[in-house]
Amino acid sequence: MGIGQELSVVNVSKYYGSFLALDNVSLRCESGQFVSILGSSGSGKTTLLKVIAGFERCSDGKIFINGKDVASVPCNKRNIGMLFQNYALFPHLTVAQNIAYPLKIRNLSKREIGERVERMVSLIKLDGLADRLPSQLSGGQQQRVALGRAIVYNPPLLLLDEPLGALDKNLRHEMQFEIRRLTTKLGITTLSVTHDQEEAFSMSDRICIVSGGKIQQFGTPEEIYEHPQNRFTAQFMGTTNIIPLNGAVYAYKNGVCYITGRSPIGNAPFTLECAQSEARKDERDLVFALRPESVHLVLDDESHENCFEAKITESVYLGQFVRARALAGSLELNVTLDVNDYRALDLTKNVRFRFAPRETAVLYN
Ligand code: ADP
Ligand code: MG
Repeated sequence: MGIGQELSVVNVSKYYGSFLALDNVSLRCESGQFVSILGSSGSGKTTLLKVIAGFERCSDGKIFINGKDVASVPCNKRNIGMLFQNYALFPHLTVAQNIAYPLKIRNLSKREIGERVERMVSLIKLDGLADRLPSQLSGGQQQRVALGRAIVYNPPLLLLDEPLGALDKNLRHEMQFEIRRLTTKLGITTLSVTHDQEEAFSMSDRICIVSGGKIQQFGTPEEIYEHPQNRFTAQFMGTTNIIPLNGAVYAYKNGVCYITGRSPIGNAPFTLECAQSEARKDERDLVFALRPESVHLVLDDESHENCFEAKITESVYLGQFVRARALAGSLELNVTLDVNDYRALDLTKNVRFRFAPRETAVLYN
């Protein structure tokens, strides 16, 4: 059993003056889980962390840590570890002294401090550098020290606010891996804020998509990617295609709903698939999301379900695959193509594509 506490945010709203920065937010992090808050700038991510940490009061709602309402607990008593983008180390203190700082203010014995610092220096892979000053370290090493200082006293809950934003790409990947490794090893419950989709996907047990102070979706990376619940999440997750389906007719079989209708991408009827419980049979006009990698090139002359013709209008070679735009009927779609398939195409002619009913996400409007 790890040390991680369970965090529950229940119906929290936060006003700055008359501006609503958090709108009835609820989420739950189980003990030891790594949860990412993913949203663009200004969506309320930092505000949510501040409210949890106790730097800001919520206007409405409650926050529970291990089942205890923390409304009356001041921030320095919440025992929450924090790592922010401008993580300022103490410039006049060595690596070891920086890491020792949170232990000192908690009045641990000299011996205990010495042992814990030594262990942490080794955990963050800075063996041999304990006596250096921050100015004698690289950016990535400094970031590691800040991480060590944030977790050395085994905080049961760790809040990260885009701490890797200033690092270059390689270093950022390495630190993402380090943070995940350490928090998992120590069993710390972690809530991490990012606007970087890849970071959220690579690190998290669960992802919470926020926009305009509201939670758009909370789920595992797979759920978010494969079953976006609304148009915002589908579009936020990258270059997905949002396609109308009109005159929808619903049919049911074994708990699955098949929705057939017309679409501006082609003349033939198209069929989508969703769980029967998600179907809204009164909605005749809807939209669905179709990912670029779910649009498959048809290489034979056979007839296929959900098949349509398109003209490739643009393409970018990306090494493992080609990202292209294809004009299908009145819509331009994003598609990804296998490099060899792409090279074999006659781009002066229309090509045929298809998609499977189950590869779509029905979104309605
Ligand atoms: P994020 O971290 O997602 O970029 P923030 O939580 O910092 O977003 O801010 C959310 C919104 O609240 C923004 O529109 C921001 O301008 C506003 N805001 C943040 N802090 C304050 C404040 N102290 N007073 C007034 N408005 C604020
Ligand atoms: Mg922020």
